[in-house]
Amino acid sequence: MPETTEAEEMLRGAKLRVTRPRLAVLATVGEHPHADTTSIIAAVRDGFGDVSGQAVYDVLDALTDAGLVRRIQPAGSVARYETRTGDNHHHIVCRSCGSIADVACAVGDTPCLAASEDHGFSIDEAEVVYWGTCPDCSSTPPNTSPKGPKGTHV
Ligand SMILES: [Zn+2]
Ligand SMILES: [Zn+2]
Repeated sequence: MPETTEAEEMLRGAKLRVTRPRLAVLATVGEHPHADTTSIIAAVRDGFGDVSGQAVYDVLDALTDAGLVRRIQPAGSVARYETRTGDNHHHIVCRSCGSIADVACAVGDTPCLAASEDHGFSIDEAEVVYWGTCPDCSSTPPNTSPKGPKGTHV
């Protein structure tokens, strides 16, 4: 059974009632940063027994609203969740396998908010997503590329 003490404190700190599904989801997201809902449901069931998928969805919404969990959704990806909130860190996404890593901002707590033109908006968040190829994908070039050296077309 994963450690839930920290999750319990986080729930109390956010004035949320401590329930078993909330503890389970919060601990699971903490252990699997950037996991999508499907993997979170699987991991919750693994570690905590039978919790319904709908319960996990509801808890993720509640935790996101309470600011305990941050939802990120890079273009073309399903929503992913992490417990590293409040620092507005950025993400780097692999175009090939979709793996995601954290990138701290170079300048302070709420970075990149000094837009060159705010169009009269009051800005409270900036989102930066770096795209590229992860080390795993760069070191293992795909051998089924349709544009391979042999020129075979599928
Ligand atoms: Zn990759
Ligand atoms: Zn992150």
